[in-house]
Amino acid sequence: MLKVEHIGIAVKDFSESISLFEKLLNTKCYKQESVESEKVNTAFFKQGETKIELLESSTSDGVIAKFIEKKGEGIHHIAFETENIFAEMERLKNEGFTLLNEQPKNGADNKLVCFLHPKGTNGVLIELCQEKK
Ligand code: ZN
Repeated sequence: MLKVEHIGIAVKDFSESISLFEKLLNTKCYKQESVESEKVNTAFFKQGETKIELLESSTSDGVIAKFIEKKGEGIHHIAFETENIFAEMERLKNEGFTLLNEQPKNGADNKLVCFLHPKGTNGVLIELCQEKK
């Protein structure tokens, strides 16, 4: 894996959190995007090499809504950039990790993504991502 590409943070109130993070990071949110398949709205901030992705549920029964219900707001996942997501998925599968999707799927920010089950990673949801070419 190449680097931490972004950290995903689950939030309740998008507009409140966007202005909070704009103040915190002293930078403007540069992109907002809805991912229909995941029932999620995303907002991105750049901080050097790494990004912060705010996640808001677009429905009351989406994965982010359920996450906040269970754990409250906070860090939802850590995303690592891969050179070849297919090879990395294969490698991790062979190492015994559980992939939440068997094929890479379309994520926000022009990425192919795959998630690892947090039960196998000390409770941390891990995302693999790769820029779509
Ligand atoms: Zn992410």
